[in-house]
Formats: sequence, C-alpha cells, structure tokens
Amino acid sequence: MPNLKITFLGTGTSQGVPVIACDCAVCVSEETKDRRLRTSILISYEDVNIVVDTGPDFRYQMLRANVKHLEAVLVTHSHKDHIAGMDDVRAFNYQQQDSIPIYGTPATHAALEREFYYAFAEHKYPGVPRLELREISKGEPFLIGGLSIMPLEVLHYKMPVTGFRIGDFAYITDAKTIEPASKLLLKGVQVLVVNALQEEPHISHFTREEAVAFSQEIGARTTYLTHISHRFGKHEEIQERLPDGIFVAYDGLILDV
Ligand SMILES: [Zn+2]
Ligand SMILES: [Zn+2]
Ligand SMILES: [Zn+2]
Repeated sequence: MPNLKITFLGTGTSQGVPVIACDCAVCVSEETKDRRLRTSILISYEDVNIVVDTGPDFRYQMLRANVKHLEAVLVTHSHKDHIAGMDDVRAFNYQQQDSIPIYGTPATHAALEREFYYAFAEHKYPGVPRLELREISKGEPFLIGGLSIMPLEVLHYKMPVTGFRIGDFAYITDAKTIEPASKLLLKGVQVLVVNALQEEPHISHFTREEAVAFSQEIGARTTYLTHISHRFGKHEEIQERLPDGIFVAYDGLILDV
C-alpha cells in the first residue's frame, strides 16, 4: 500500500456551510469545524499532488493548504460545486510552465469543454488555463506518478459519478446508489471517504443512515463522511450519532493512509 497523505480541502455540500443569508444554528456556529468549503480532497504521494475536484473554492483551498505544485486533477462529475473553480488551475500552469492533466469520463470532459470553452478554443486568448484532458473508464486502472488509481462508477440519482480507489483507500462523493460491480471494486477498502448529506432522505445523496450502512457493507475499518449540509447539524452533534469507526470529516483534516 502506498503511503498517502489525504487533506480534506472542503467537506461541505454544494452551497458550502455557512449558506449565504442563513441564520440556522449550524450557519451561525463559531466552531471552525462547522465551516465547510465545497467538497474536495488533496492526495499527496511522494512528490505528487493530486486534487479531486476543483469546485468554486479551489483557489482559496490551494492557498489555505499551501499547495505549491499540482500534478493532476481527478474529476468526479460535472456539477458546478465540483468543477466551477477549474479556471484557477492556470496558476499552476504558469508556475510549472506546463499543462495540467485532467482525468475524467468522456461525459465529464464534454461538460468541461462547454463550461470552459475558451480553454479549448483553437485560437486561445493568452493566459487561459491549459487543461490536458485524459479519459478514464470505470474498472480500468490508470497511473499518475507511479500511483495506480482505480476509477469506479456510482450513481447520483441518474447521473454517473466517478469514485476512486487507491490501494486500501477509496473516495466516493455524490453517491445515492452503488451497483454490485462497483462494490466488488471496493472490496477490502480500509479507509473510506463517502458522502452523507443529512438525516432526511434525498433523491441524489446518501443520508447518514445510508452512508453508515454502505460503510458497514464494505467493511471499511475507518470511514469519513463528507459533502455535509447545514441541515445535518453541527459537527459535534453529527459525530454523536455515528457508530465506532465512522467520523465526520472537516476542512483541514489530514489522514495518513
Ligand atoms: Zn456535489
Ligand atoms: Zn444554515
Ligand atoms: Zn453532484
């Protein structure tokens, strides 16, 4: 198993926490762990930095985590809370004098080509991000800097979302249903990150109960919940409702796996 350092750059759902103009107990909380940027992680392996998703908070997340170089971006799906900040990859383009590989499915790449059309134009305006699209397919592992990464598919209502497994570690966001073939690819995972939006049922996201059941089915030793809504409750309150071995992630949390 490679030694990975996982940094949670953001653990909040699409609007982030606090939500603009919301006065609920979670949004007005003074606790640092109740302030959640949009969901993303940094995977560091030897000298390689890989970011999963570049949401609207990407720029600030790179500054806050003091990330000095970026070798690749893995994109889970094309919802705005996962891609909106991709333009700021250009800071790394300037710094590294190179393009940045962006790994995603053809559907995700097609959305990036629409959303960031200017980065793919034939005659590019100077200074646009240089994104090198690299196609991946579920069940077919690929290598980044010697690290083998297995992409797998989960469903976000009807939308396919890519999850990633590296050794004993797996990262799954925006899942509502997971087909048996994908569960098979997760067999033996020890450290699992999975989305859990809130207590109440939601059409496209796991609830607390569904995320806990999924973690137990996989048999993960340790599970971290992410993509948290303000409706879920304060960090400490959510934690109290979780069984042993399952934790609420928070921004800035670092795991060595
Ligand atoms: Zn999302
Ligand atoms: Zn709120
Ligand atoms: Zn989504």
